[in-house]
Amino acid sequence: MTEGFSRSQPWMIVADKVMANTYKRLPVVFTRGQGCTLWDADGKSYLDFLAGIAVCNLGHAHPGVAAALSRQAETLVHVSNLFYTVPQTELAAWLVDHSFANRVFFCNSGAEANEAAIKLARKYFKDRGEPDRYRIISMIQSFHGRTFGTLSATGQDKIKQGFSPILEGFDFVPFNDIEAIHKLISSNTCAILMETIQGEGGIRAADTEYLHQVRQLCNETGTLLIFDEIQTGIGRTGKLFAHEHFGVEPDIMTLAKALANGLPIGAMLARESVAEAFVPGSHATTFGGTPLVTAAALCTLKTLESENIIEHCLEVGEYFKDRLKALQVRHPVVKEVRGTGLLLGMELSTDGLPLVQACLNRGFVINCVQGNILRFVPPLIIQKSEIDQLIDCLDQVLE
Ligand SMILES: *Cc1c(COP(=O)(O)O)cnc(C)c1O
Repeated sequence: MTEGFSRSQPWMIVADKVMANTYKRLPVVFTRGQGCTLWDADGKSYLDFLAGIAVCNLGHAHPGVAAALSRQAETLVHVSNLFYTVPQTELAAWLVDHSFANRVFFCNSGAEANEAAIKLARKYFKDRGEPDRYRIISMIQSFHGRTFGTLSATGQDKIKQGFSPILEGFDFVPFNDIEAIHKLISSNTCAILMETIQGEGGIRAADTEYLHQVRQLCNETGTLLIFDEIQTGIGRTGKLFAHEHFGVEPDIMTLAKALANGLPIGAMLARESVAEAFVPGSHATTFGGTPLVTAAALCTLKTLESENIIEHCLEVGEYFKDRLKALQVRHPVVKEVRGTGLLLGMELSTDGLPLVQACLNRGFVINCVQGNILRFVPPLIIQKSEIDQLIDCLDQVLE
C-alpha cells in the first residue's frame, strides 16, 4: 500500500454508512481473484484460505465455470420453474447419479435448502396421517441458517437473540450423545437434523459409531434423518459428501455453498419415498435452479470429477493438518487441530480475531469461528507450496 493513500479507504467509509450494519468487516476491499489468490483495491495480493466460506472450491475466476456462465448468460438466464430447462435437469440427474437420493429441489441458499427439508419432513408425516409428528431434534452448537425456520433449528442462542417468538417444534441435544436422543425422541418427532461435521460450531465431527446409532434409531422409529451438508458437501472433506466417510446415509440432504463455485444455489435431495410428499403446489421458488446457476454448478461438479480434485483435497488436506499439528507442538497457545480434508480447525486458548487480522496484514485470508477456533477452508485446488506459506505466517503470528 502506498503511504498515505489508499484506494480501499473511500469504499470502506461509504459502505459503513450505507450498508446494513450486519457484519463486522475486515478492513479490505477485494477487487479481483484468480485461483487461490485475491487482490485488494490497492493491488496487494492475498492467499485465500477461506474461499468465500467454503464456497469457491475450484478457486476464483475458474476459466471453465466462467466460460459455462458466459455461454449460458448469452443463451438463457431465467424462465421460471413453470417450465423444463436443460441445465437444471442435467444437474439434478448428476446429483441423483452420485448420491443416495432420487429427487432434487433447487433453491438459492443453504437456509432455503434447510427450509425445504424441514417442510418436507413435516409434510411427509402429515400425508401419512400422523399430524402430530412435527418435532425435529437438532444439535447444540449446530448451524442451519438465518431464516426463521432455520434459526429456530440452530443450536446457538446468539443467533436467536432478539427475534422471538421463533418457530416452535425444535428440541436440542448435545452432539455425539446418543443417550440424549433416546431420552428426547418421541411419537412427535419427525426428524433428526444434523451436520456430520459441525462447521460454524467449530469443526467438530460426529463419532462414526454415534452416527450409525442415530441411523439405527431413525430406522427403528421411522424418523427421518436429515444431513445438512451445506458446508461439508461438494468435496470439501475429501469425499463428494462427508457422510461417505462414516458409511451412513440420510433420508434427506441439503447442499449449497460450493455447489456452483460461488453462484447462489441451494439443493434439497431426498429418497423417493420421502420426496413424494412434495407435489405440485407444496413448495416453490422463483429463482431456484435457473439455467444460469445450474450451468455453473454442472460445470463445477464435472470439473471436480474430471480433474480428480477431491482426491487432491484429501491429499493436501492431510499434509495441511500435519503441518498445523507441528505448529501445535511449537506453540502452547494451540489447544487442538482437527478436521477432515480441507475443512480444518485450530482451537486456541486465546481470542482468534487478532490472529486473523495479523494474517490479513501479511497477505493471508483465514477466519475464526466461535471466538477462538481458526478455520481453514481454502479452495480445493490449493497447493502444498501455498500451504507452506501460510504455515510460515502462522508460525510468526502465533509467537
Ligand atoms: C452456511 C451454512 C448454512 C446456511 O447457508 P446460507 O447459504 O448462508 O443460508 C446452513 N448450514 C450450514 C452447515 C452452513 O455451513
